Amino acid sequence: MRVLNGVHQIKSPGPGSGSWSTNVYVIEGGDGHIVVDSGWDSQESLWALQEGMKGANLKLRDIKKVVITHIHPDHYGLSSKIKQICGAQVAIHRIDAGFISLRYKDFADLLQKIEELLRRNGVPQDELPQLKEASLWMNKYVTPDSPDIMLEDGDVISNDSFEFEVLWTPGHSPGHICLYEKDRKFIITGDHVLYETTPHIGFNPLSGENPLGDYVSSLKKLESLKVHFILPGHGPVFNALGLRIAKILQHHEDRKRAIMKSLRTGLQTAYAIAQQIPWMANGGNIAFRDLPDWDKRMAVTETIAHLKLLIEEGSVSNVDMDGASLYIAKD
Ligand SMILES: [Zn+2]
Ligand SMILES: [Zn+2]
Repeated sequence: MRVLNGVHQIKSPGPGSGSWSTNVYVIEGGDGHIVVDSGWDSQESLWALQEGMKGANLKLRDIKKVVITHIHPDHYGLSSKIKQICGAQVAIHRIDAGFISLRYKDFADLLQKIEELLRRNGVPQDELPQLKEASLWMNKYVTPDSPDIMLEDGDVISNDSFEFEVLWTPGHSPGHICLYEKDRKFIITGDHVLYETTPHIGFNPLSGENPLGDYVSSLKKLESLKVHFILPGHGPVFNALGLRIAKILQHHEDRKRAIMKSLRTGLQTAYAIAQQIPWMANGGNIAFRDLPDWDKRMAVTETIAHLKLLIEEGSVSNVDMDGASLYIAKD
């Protein structure tokens, strides 16, 4: 589907029925097309790319570059296959590129660290195995090759029709990037700014010490950009970037308030706090105990991310006792 002159959006299906599709963008150029994000590594998403390009009268063999906003499987998974098919160069931010092997090849060490993190944060023994392994199935939908180009903040990616500035926007992933087309006044935001949901920001062994603090700074970095269209990694294209950013910031303020409220009852683990704050799934409220394993793990790591920001802001302290990480309000 053409979303702007020379810019096509292809809905790349997720694995299994009912899963979220990824927006793959094809940026036309006479000297080669740029594809932004690839979708999962599956026959269905390769087929969707081929059909989507055919529908726009474009050819797979004319893809020159595949730029990946971040290395989550729904964005990065298929990139190596596209390279194998048409020889395109794959470009990823240096920091996310550095995690490909740890995450998708030699992941035993990462799994160990995730287990340790979940245990220290109060996840009970009988839930640990499921939560620890909740994301493993995704690895089957990724071909984890190293990129050809390591990107940095401020780099330029262009063909003869478009010129994008790489904006490093850590938070959802430590090496997340957005692509800003200054002259045409649009931005491709990956999972940094979405219209229908607030992106997942979790504390994990690869996230850095304060991922939510990074995320809030990265959001503010986009606030003053002059853009008419926001092209996200999932969901519809939208306008009014400033308004959307304000709403996302408000969501995190509300969540911080809910966490402070739960800390009134005393010293607690992140797992105990996560059980007291409201969660959403499929557009409705859902109790923590009813969340599927993967969402439960995201709820715990999101709670830790908020607590880390509250520590940074001086409202909360963290103490280790008997192998557990406990949080306490400072007032
Ligand atoms: Zn993501
Ligand atoms: Zn995504």
